[in-house]
Amino acid sequence: MFNKRTKIGELLSSEPDNREVTVMGWVRTFRNNQFIALNDGSTNENLQVVLELGKFDDELLKRLTTSASVRAVGNLIPSLGRGQRSELKATAIEVLGDSDGEKYPLQPKKHSLEFLREQAHLRFRTNTFGSVFRVRHALAYAVHRFFNEKGFVYLHTPVITASDAEGAGETFKVTTLPFDATPRNEDGTVDFREDFFGRATNLTVSGQLEGELAAMAFSEIYTFGPTFRAENSNTARHLAEFWMIEPEMAFYDLEDNVDLAEEFIRYIIRYAIENNVQDLEFLAQRLADEEKQLPQDKRSEFGLMEKLSFVVDNRFERLTYTEAISILRESNYNKKKKFQYLIDQWGVDLQSEHERFLVERHFKRPVVLTDYPKNIKAFYMRQNDDGKTVAAMDILAPGIGEIVGGSQREERMDKLVSRMQEMHIPVKEMWWYLDTRRFGTVPHAGFGLGFERMVQFVTGMSNIRDVIAFPRTPKNAEF
Ligand code: ATP
Ligand code: MN
Repeated sequence: MFNKRTKIGELLSSEPDNREVTVMGWVRTFRNNQFIALNDGSTNENLQVVLELGKFDDELLKRLTTSASVRAVGNLIPSLGRGQRSELKATAIEVLGDSDGEKYPLQPKKHSLEFLREQAHLRFRTNTFGSVFRVRHALAYAVHRFFNEKGFVYLHTPVITASDAEGAGETFKVTTLPFDATPRNEDGTVDFREDFFGRATNLTVSGQLEGELAAMAFSEIYTFGPTFRAENSNTARHLAEFWMIEPEMAFYDLEDNVDLAEEFIRYIIRYAIENNVQDLEFLAQRLADEEKQLPQDKRSEFGLMEKLSFVVDNRFERLTYTEAISILRESNYNKKKKFQYLIDQWGVDLQSEHERFLVERHFKRPVVLTDYPKNIKAFYMRQNDDGKTVAAMDILAPGIGEIVGGSQREERMDKLVSRMQEMHIPVKEMWWYLDTRRFGTVPHAGFGLGFERMVQFVTGMSNIRDVIAFPRTPKNAEF
């Protein structure tokens, strides 16, 4: 058996009682021919492995370069040096995989996040990305734990679908048709009857519609999977492939929906604080250092840890779109024309500058906006009695903007169908969706939370490309 080792995270939180242990990992640094800083990804803390001078031969010492992989056996003793509680007094060292330290792209110094994006296959081995991806893992686990505790059923919705009924964004086409000899209809359009599925298909932009179908049987379900949007927006908050969590609940109205979303967000943040405090403190320090480079007025008022505790401990501000518009219209930012898009009338879609104004300047806390104009929202959202708005809700987070989008769904068949017709949604093709309204329809609601935006919020990383392992963005699909 090869895997007879103790993880470094576990060792460092145990008593240094001289017991013999085996560790394996990658060399971060090797100094004075004596001290290996060894890391195995279980924590950012390195284990100091001490090699007694003269005890190991020179050939071996030369191979202990940055990024070489090593197996070390020794005794865990209280550290003689400062900076760590315990260290490993090595009795045997074996190099598992050599590495040319000169050629290794990540030198033991600070690299820019941009540079590390080009080394995404190696960036896991840095402290920053070690912490980011352990926190990402913890949040993903907390998502499942939350819904499991509440009795929700985890539903796997299809990645390939024939509907973009949601109109959530540009889709990626899925086809096996040859590019050079595409079968054509008489009018010149592509004949998808010849295609693999016998019809035009695309990668899913959301699992919601399928989620609704299952909610009409299990009452409460959630999805957690990849979604794809071919939106050509090169922002720090958009990916072409991102993970979304979409709960869908029967017997919920809009308020129940917002309550669940708030409880959910608090729960997963609290889980990360309780289980990943070391990583979060590291990221908080990283963020503080990064912000020191910014002019005073661009720095945040609170550190990362304070911001997270604040969200866990305080209710989100809830207001309607209409109320938000009047706050924005009356704001100094609007009057002094500091917004790029000035707010002059009810009905416009909010830009991210407006969302950030509300969250970061006006309320200084996460904000839930409800009851948006129906003309800027999807067909399935429940129409309010005023004839102008729908029971939609967006949750806006500091530094990120929209993190959740959701609504109460239109459960009334006649209203749904007439809205679909108005919006040119193919009613006939959506027969399966409409069946839920035909056979035992109920008030129901749901939302979508962009997982990467959540990870950004919790880790304080300002670019979404730095919270997913291998980001997919316009003109970039390396790795
Ligand atoms: P935005 O206005 O920010 O583009 P949206 O209105 O298109 O968002 P929804 O269709 O409501 O977003 O999707 C639900 C959630 O998915 C959003 O609240 C956001 O957290 C996330 N999301 C949407 N588009 C992306 C993307 N391209 N990359 C990462 N996350 C996204
Ligand atoms: Mn969008």
